[in-house]
Amino acid sequence: MHTATQKSAHTVILFYKYVGIRRPETVQKQQYALCRRFHLRGRIIVATEGINGTLEGTAHAIQRYIMHTKEDARFASIVFKRSSGTGDAFPKLSIKVRDEIVTLGVPVKNRKPGTYVQPAKLRSWIHKKEDMTILDVRNGYETAVGRFEHSLTPRINNFRDVPNVAHNLESFKNKKLVMVCTGGIRCEKASRYFKQQGYKQIYQLEGGIATYMKKYGGEDFVGSLYVFDNRILIRGEKGKHTVVGRCAACGEFSERYTNCAYDPCHAHFICCETCEKEQEGYCSKGCKGRADEILKFSEKARMVGV
Ligand SMILES: [Zn+2]
Ligand SMILES: [Zn+2]
Repeated sequence: MHTATQKSAHTVILFYKYVGIRRPETVQKQQYALCRRFHLRGRIIVATEGINGTLEGTAHAIQRYIMHTKEDARFASIVFKRSSGTGDAFPKLSIKVRDEIVTLGVPVKNRKPGTYVQPAKLRSWIHKKEDMTILDVRNGYETAVGRFEHSLTPRINNFRDVPNVAHNLESFKNKKLVMVCTGGIRCEKASRYFKQQGYKQIYQLEGGIATYMKKYGGEDFVGSLYVFDNRILIRGEKGKHTVVGRCAACGEFSERYTNCAYDPCHAHFICCETCEKEQEGYCSKGCKGRADEILKFSEKARMVGV
């Protein structure tokens, strides 16, 4: 009998590729078989425009998964971004076919993405005080916990809000805009959209903030990088760690995420432990009120025997 087998280290990968896929269903099936074979969990979206996924497994299993995936010529050049995992980043495996790999909701006909900027280049621009603006196209709950200093973090609840952002940034039409997102995939689409809308100088951070963080995190990017719904945050390895997130209720510095206990709301927000207890897990008085009403109603229904 084996005793205390060493718990193997887990790896999380993030990847995407914009590439024409004629039959997404076939790729879905192949990927499903591969993930099952290596006991991976996470999610993958396949569309005619490409593939986008994030998975977790043992380091060895992930290695083999990557090797097999790269055998497909369409995926041979994918850059897999790795970070260490806990083994429970994802509750299950989900592989879906969708219309888009990231949903913007409006058609993007422009095929040319923004000009790629390497992390080292962006860093030198930041330090030389180059005449440019960093535009973060991530969601508000992501930028809340970490972001580039002096970057533009417009109000985005969902990537579908990006066309609206483009509409509101008219004064930047001829200015140098450097888009950033977690791994680069959202910039691929947002930059195409911005160019389509007449923006002249659109750049995008190659490999996303995740790649930048590995090299220079903690210096120009303050706070943590939000990676998954499962409250995994990546901290920079250089410089000192600064908490920039704030509790939505009391405003104290915090990096603790929670979801509103009122299911129809389910808002994802930063909330300190004290406030979570005080608010009983709800994001607002409104949500607590609505939940209380439902509770009262169901109690009444039970009393009259409905
Ligand atoms: Zn609080
Ligand atoms: Zn709520």
